[in-house]
Amino acid sequence: MCSNCDYTIHRAQHHFGWDHSIPPAERVVPGSTVFFECLDSGAGHFTLDSTVADVSALDFDKVNPVTGPIYIDGAEPGDALKITIDGFEPSGFGWTANIPGFGLLADQFKDPALTLWSYDKTSMAPALFSSHGKVPLKPFAGEIGLAPAEPGRHSVVPPRRVGGNLDIRDLTAGTVLYLPVEVPGALFSVGDTHAAQGDGEVCGTAIESQMNVALKFEVVKGANLRMPRFTTAGPVTNHLDSRGYEVTTGVGPDLMEGARAAVSNMIDLLGQQHGLSAVEAYMLCSVCGDLRISEIVDMPNWVVSFYFPRVVFE
Ligand SMILES: [Zn+2]
Repeated sequence: MCSNCDYTIHRAQHHFGWDHSIPPAERVVPGSTVFFECLDSGAGHFTLDSTVADVSALDFDKVNPVTGPIYIDGAEPGDALKITIDGFEPSGFGWTANIPGFGLLADQFKDPALTLWSYDKTSMAPALFSSHGKVPLKPFAGEIGLAPAEPGRHSVVPPRRVGGNLDIRDLTAGTVLYLPVEVPGALFSVGDTHAAQGDGEVCGTAIESQMNVALKFEVVKGANLRMPRFTTAGPVTNHLDSRGYEVTTGVGPDLMEGARAAVSNMIDLLGQQHGLSAVEAYMLCSVCGDLRISEIVDMPNWVVSFYFPRVVFE
């Protein structure tokens, strides 16, 4: 539990859509630290006994539950909510799935696939990926955001200017996130905790893992922030950098196609170098490889690169 937290929001207080008519679970004063019991993105659907058949049984109306909302006193439209990410309480279990119809290469990976992970929640040592390698962990919350001003229930899948399913892997402990407030009280919720993810989350899932989260809230009056922004506490890839990277590219006039090519080329390379099946390589790329735009000016062709950390196989 969290000894310096002022409030606890229990996991029963979760919801499956962003909607400013959902009554707040708690009303907190700025400066408070709040402990959120989160569910994983599958709402507990997967366990260590799960098989690939359970991927097809996943109910898409019950994904990405978020815990909340909380009402922050004094937050008004036009302000920014400043969220200091204090820390995570990991569970030790995680899953990664290829869900048919979802993911950057959904047209190439039409069958469900599932990887289960066990990790040491105390040491947070790199997690074994079957017999192939081990993935450094760095927890964060994939879904973190505020209720939009627009009435009605909005899906938890797409992120918005008020945040939501941002899936930014650098929103780790120590990072300070600023979100634009659109409704009184901001109405903040959080969930979809991840033990590790690469930039891009290419297969559509990370190491999805139930965790609890401690966050501190402050209000920046009149910030008029257009989109989310954040400040990291230090280097963001120290956990991956030590052995360098294998890098593949996608070159062409469309960034999305470039991203797809860069990832496909990495899947082929990991198969050649380490004997991974294509879908294993795809899931592994999603949890630890990074998509980057290398150049976006040398018209008409842009370069998207995919960085795979060699430390996974050391
Ligand atoms: Zn997730």
